[in-house]
Amino acid sequence: MPELLAESLIRDVPDFPKPGIIFKDITPVLANPAAMHEIIDKICQYAERVEPDVVVGIESRGFVIGMPVALYLNVGFVPVRKLGKLPYHKISEEYALEYGTNTVEMHVDAIKSGQRVLIVDDLLATGGTAAAAGRLVERLDGTVAGCAFLVELGFLHGRKALLNYDVHTLVHFD
Ligand code: AMP
Repeated sequence: MPELLAESLIRDVPDFPKPGIIFKDITPVLANPAAMHEIIDKICQYAERVEPDVVVGIESRGFVIGMPVALYLNVGFVPVRKLGKLPYHKISEEYALEYGTNTVEMHVDAIKSGQRVLIVDDLLATGGTAAAAGRLVERLDGTVAGCAFLVELGFLHGRKALLNYDVHTLVHFD
C-alpha cells in the first residue's frame, strides 16, 4: 500500500519518449486535487524548513509543482526553461545527456545576490537538469537552499550530481 495517494496514481509509460525508457507520467496526479494537496503540503513543509526567498521551477512539470509552493510561501517564482524559450536577457548552462547535451536558461535578473533558492522539479533522474539549474542560481550569486522533487529514480543516483545541495523527494523508485 503506497504511503502517498500520489504514488498510486503515477503511471508507467514504457518506451516513451524512446525505447527502453519507462516514463513516469504524473498527469493523473495533477488531475487529482486530493493528491495535489497532499504533495504540495509535503513540499511546503520541507520548504518552510529551508526558508527560501524564491522558488525556481524547471520546465515544465517543475512549474506546476513549484508555483503553488511559491504562492503558499508568499515568495516569487522563477522559471528555468529549455534553450531559446525565455524572451529577455539570459544565462545558459549546458549539461550532458546519455547522447549529446541539453541547455537550460534563466533570466539574468531572476535571482538577486544572496537570495536563498528552492529548486523544484517533478522528477530526479540523473540529476543533470537540477545541477545545471543550481549552477544558474549560483552564477547570479544565489544560494541553493534545497531541492524538492515529487519522484526520485534511485537507480540513476541523481543525488550524486547534487552532493552540495539538500535534496528532498516524496516518492522513491529503486
Ligand atoms: P535528469 O536531469 O536526468 O535528473 O532528468 C530530470 C528531468 O527529466 C526532469 O525534468 C524529468 O521530468 C525528466 N525525466 C527524466 N527521466 C524521466 C522519466 N523516467 N519519467 C519522467 N520524466 C523524466
